[in-house]
Amino acid sequence: MGEFSGIILVPIGEVDPVIIAWLKEDIPKILPANVRESTPLSLSPRHFQNDRDQYLADGLLADLSSIPRDENTIPLGITGADLFSYSLNYVFGIACTGRALISISRLKPECYGMPANQKLFRWRIFTEAIHELGHAFGLPHCEYPGCVMYFSNWIGDTDRKGPEFCYRCRRRIGLPGKA
Ligand SMILES: [Zn+2]
Ligand SMILES: [Zn+2]
Repeated sequence: MGEFSGIILVPIGEVDPVIIAWLKEDIPKILPANVRESTPLSLSPRHFQNDRDQYLADGLLADLSSIPRDENTIPLGITGADLFSYSLNYVFGIACTGRALISISRLKPECYGMPANQKLFRWRIFTEAIHELGHAFGLPHCEYPGCVMYFSNWIGDTDRKGPEFCYRCRRRIGLPGKA
């Protein structure tokens, strides 16, 4: 991960504090970074699209640039808002180099007619957070379906791949190989 050493969790709009606590505990299991929390950002109505009843992910991602931080720290926005991007009907998250964002709105098992399941919900949030942070560290998508950097076309891809980087992606961001 070279120059990056810290991650700031930024709630955008109303976010259950339990989710922030989960991420604080889970992210360091994969990324050896100092994870802390910032004061929340408000969910700006500028990014809301009435006809879609969704927020523009790219707009929320841009708002994260207002978070005060040093250059080695990456902000990870977390929102309950449903997101779309210019070419995609919905996204679980979005990132650019140095900034990442996830939406939890489509990660609840209840969204897919399944019974509530906190463990699965937490696993999905963890997986999507690591995926977007991987992009923020400069990783592209990975063709290995078991790698967290594999593109999730639907929630089944997220559940299958889980939060671990493959050996190649680990190497690319300078993480040591698994023992
Ligand atoms: Zn991606
Ligand atoms: Zn990979």
